[in-house]
Amino acid sequence: MPLSTDQRERYSRQTELQGWGAEGQERLLESSVFVAGVGGLGCAAATYLAVAGVGEVVVCDGDVVERSNLNRQFLYTRDDLTRHKAPIAAAQLRRLNPDITVTPVIAEINRSTAQGLIEGADLVLDCLDNPETRITLNRAAIAASIPMVYAAVAEYTGYLSFLNPPATPCLECFVDGTRPAVHPPVPGCTVGVLGSLEAMEALKFLTGTGETLAGRLLVVEGAVPSFDVIEIERDPDCPACRGL
Ligand SMILES: [Zn+2]
Repeated sequence: MPLSTDQRERYSRQTELQGWGAEGQERLLESSVFVAGVGGLGCAAATYLAVAGVGEVVVCDGDVVERSNLNRQFLYTRDDLTRHKAPIAAAQLRRLNPDITVTPVIAEINRSTAQGLIEGADLVLDCLDNPETRITLNRAAIAASIPMVYAAVAEYTGYLSFLNPPATPCLECFVDGTRPAVHPPVPGCTVGVLGSLEAMEALKFLTGTGETLAGRLLVVEGAVPSFDVIEIERDPDCPACRGL
C-alpha cells in the first residue's frame, strides 16, 4: 500500500537513506518480526523496530517484571512489578507508534511451543537470556526457514550475528547450547547497544539496504572498548543444520 502523507513525514529521515525509499518503507510496513524475549535486549530491539514502522512486532515473553529488571528494561516501571512483560511492552510500543500492530504473547518458548509461535514471521530476533532456549529457537527458525538475528550479552561484552542457514552458520555451529544458564552482571547500556544493533540487522534485511552480519560475528568489548568482526563458518557436524 502506498505511504500516506503522515507516514511519508513520520519516516522521512530514514526513507532518505540510499536504497530505502518509499518502497523500502512499504516493505517494512508489510513485515512481521518475532521478538523472542522482552527483557533488556528485547526492550531496545522492539522499540527501534516499532518506531521504524515494522508493520507487525510480536513481543513474546512468559516472565513478569521484577525490580532487578528496571536498570535496563526501560519499557517497564515500578508500577508494573509482578505483571507480565509482554502486554506492558506492547502498550508502550503502540504509544510510540500507533501506525503499526504490536502483538503481545505471554508464553514460554520451548520445544512444544516454538514452532507455532514464530510461524508467519519474516524474521526472528533472539533477545533471550539462556543457551537452552536460544537453541530451541534456533531449531524452530531452521525448521521454518526463517532467518534469525542472534545477540548475547554479559557485563560490557556483547555478540551479534545474522543467521540464515545454509547460507550462514546456525547458532549451534558456534554456540554450545549445553552450557548452564548464568545471569552475569549487565548494565542497561550493554543491552541497549546490542538490542539496537539487532534492530539494525532487522531493518537492513527487511528493506534490502546495507549488509547484514551473515557469516560474521560482531564482538563488542565495551570495557576496552573495541568492536571486532570475525568470520564464522558452518560446522559440518552441527546437530541442528547438518544436511541442509
Ligand atoms: Zn548449525
